[in-house]
Amino acid sequence: MKRWSILLAAVLAAGLGLMPAIALALNVVATSPSMGALVRTLAPNAKLTVLAEPDQDLHMLQAKPSMIRALRSADLVVAIGAELEVGWLPAASKSAVNPVILPGREGYFEAAAQVPLLEVGGTADRARGDVHPAGNPHVDLDPVRMAQIAEALAERMARLDPANAARYRSNAKRFATAVDRQIPEWQARLVDAPGVLLYHRDAIYLLERFNLTLLGTIEPVPGVPPSGRDLKALISKLRGKDGVIIYAPHHSPKAPQKVGRDLGWPVVRLPLDPPIDANGDGYLRHMDRWIDAIASAG
Ligand SMILES: [Zn+2]
Repeated sequence: MKRWSILLAAVLAAGLGLMPAIALALNVVATSPSMGALVRTLAPNAKLTVLAEPDQDLHMLQAKPSMIRALRSADLVVAIGAELEVGWLPAASKSAVNPVILPGREGYFEAAAQVPLLEVGGTADRARGDVHPAGNPHVDLDPVRMAQIAEALAERMARLDPANAARYRSNAKRFATAVDRQIPEWQARLVDAPGVLLYHRDAIYLLERFNLTLLGTIEPVPGVPPSGRDLKALISKLRGKDGVIIYAPHHSPKAPQKVGRDLGWPVVRLPLDPPIDANGDGYLRHMDRWIDAIASAG
């Protein structure tokens, strides 16, 4: 039987009450693997496209034809927001000519709009090219905020697909419970952890969650690479202290390696995002790598 005739038979059978009506799965596009992990956890049956690889910089992604194709047929776009994707997502969505996923519509969801943000409206140094003018967008490195985002996303999915509302909500609850269970263990492992020197202000939500000290950043301003003079000043400020340096794969390793050598600190290269096929458990395992990198430097 050809595909259409199988479908027709199924539709007729459903109409006659012989089998359950065909529920169309949501078609979702997630900008980052962390957002993809939430979508998989809430809606394992959704058709999901994740736009960025875990080692890519979401500030600087290039809009590709495959991306625009995915956006064209999406029911829902799950972005991190707070202008993290401002350099490419609005243009790609516009090219996709799909009004349901434009900002302000039910089909556009921003994680950063669901939780309190850090570094809002104060010191953004726009003149020097600060890439965080709307506050720090990197909320996905805080597991507690991720649980809140999951609950808000479940509500959004429930509105778009009421038939599966209960499933989305219970999956969000299960993820929040898993986060709650994990936090005390992580806290215990971090008791003697040293402060952290980041390349970019991308893990500040994680550091704040666990009362860890941010010793500084390799970049003088978010999105602006350091000069030799910046690095000299940073090294002389930190000499004699203990710490660990963490940078993402999309950053140049040169400056972190040099600072690590000069200070005698461990230097760790860690992606911000979980693997591209991760679900909620995969996200928690990824956060475990972050906790381990910091705890084992103590
Ligand atoms: Zn950033």
